[in-house]
Amino acid sequence: MRSHPFSYLPYPLIFFGGTAALVAGLSQGLSYWRVGPPILLLAALLVLALERWFPHAEVWRKDHDGDTATDLLHVTGNLALSQVSLLLYTGVTSLTGGALSWWPRDWPFWAQFLLGTALLDLGLYAIHRASHHVPWLWRLHAIHHSPRRVYWLNGQRRHLIHEALEGAPGLLVLGLLGAPPAVVACALATVTLHLMFQHGNIAYRAGFLRHVFAVAELHRWHHQRLYADVQGNYGGILSVWDRLFGTALPQKGEAPLDVGMDDEPTLPTDYVGQLTWPFRRRRG
Ligand SMILES: [Zn+2]
Repeated sequence: MRSHPFSYLPYPLIFFGGTAALVAGLSQGLSYWRVGPPILLLAALLVLALERWFPHAEVWRKDHDGDTATDLLHVTGNLALSQVSLLLYTGVTSLTGGALSWWPRDWPFWAQFLLGTALLDLGLYAIHRASHHVPWLWRLHAIHHSPRRVYWLNGQRRHLIHEALEGAPGLLVLGLLGAPPAVVACALATVTLHLMFQHGNIAYRAGFLRHVFAVAELHRWHHQRLYADVQGNYGGILSVWDRLFGTALPQKGEAPLDVGMDDEPTLPTDYVGQLTWPFRRRRG
């Protein structure tokens, strides 16, 4: 893989830059709807350009069995669900009227954001890890392992029910603590932004940042073809959880480009098929 000084720029510039812009906008009291979507759209365009001109794997640039259309539907469904969750969270928070007040509201917004994002990300880690051990959760999660390439849209190839389950623990804890909706909105947008980089087919390097963040060079190992080989590197934004809880996958050099899930040969390639697959009767 090409690796030169430029390789180390995209991740910090776009991920940290985008996150800093989100935090700055929301801490000024601007509405999430005015700040979040434009920043995510700009980041997506930059990621698309990098995939085009600075790919990690040339073979992953091409559509595989119509996966681009399938993944665009997953993106649309999951982002809609995420926005509905945010609206629900905002509605419930306004109903409780700040009765739940354990949240450190006197902290600067950026510190509240860091705490909120870490809690949300820990919930994502926990459900992702459980999804590799609990059979019914695996049925919902397996479609995430079905693609034959790893590129920016794969991050959103997740079943709608699994999407809701992954976010639920973090949102529940944040809600019980009384975290403001602006903090939750910022954390959710950061997850979306990071997923683009975690799966991005970009020849970027993270350097020492991979010890903290679950970047593509770590996550690609989570897309190896055998189920037995992908029991680790569960982190969404942070790789810290895998290091802390002993689930970091062994790796040597670059992860294989031949990805997919050999142990689930019946996984469909179309969107509706992927949503119904977990509920189909298993043969044998
Ligand atoms: Zn997984």
